[in-house]
Amino acid sequence: METDPIELAKSTEICRNCKNIVIGKGNLKAGILFVGESPGRNEDEQGLPFVGAAGKNLDKLLNEVGLSLEDIYVTNILKCRPPENRDPLPEEIKAHTPWLIKQIQEMKPKVVCSLGNYATKFFLANGNVDLMDKQPGITSVHGKVKEMDFLGLKIRLIPLFHPAAIIYNRSLIKKWEEDMGIVKREITQRSLF
Ligand code: URA
Repeated sequence: METDPIELAKSTEICRNCKNIVIGKGNLKAGILFVGESPGRNEDEQGLPFVGAAGKNLDKLLNEVGLSLEDIYVTNILKCRPPENRDPLPEEIKAHTPWLIKQIQEMKPKVVCSLGNYATKFFLANGNVDLMDKQPGITSVHGKVKEMDFLGLKIRLIPLFHPAAIIYNRSLIKKWEEDMGIVKREITQRSLF
């Protein structure tokens, strides 16, 4: 019998040790999904993604292009906070992403915005965690729309810098703004907004 994706994620050490499992927030009926890396301290406390400094930045940046949580759904690669916010381990990504895949299969987004390297490499590797290392990094692929068949679902992937990475970096903010123009164009063309 196949393991239930939620039970698989819950069986990991980070899940046993976290305060709250962070599933997602926003509108599950929206056609746009934003995927980050993993919950931080504030997210762990509140059980919601992107509520700390990176989240405030994400809200502000979305707001600038007229998007709110009504228009998108937000989740992460890992559903639990790794200790001291360390990088996700391959085994953790393997154990947590079946849950993300289940969310994607239920939501069927048309556009997926991957935030930062981990989410971007996961999608570029078509969900094969062992191939993530071989994928190009966010600096070379941000803002490049990639039409792809993600495990049987047609999506348009738009890699974006992680909102935490751009908090203090003006040149990245400019790039993010240009990339968000692309997101806006894609979702307007597809009447997702
Ligand atoms: N960074 C992420 O990638 N996800 C969160 O939920 C918060 C910060």
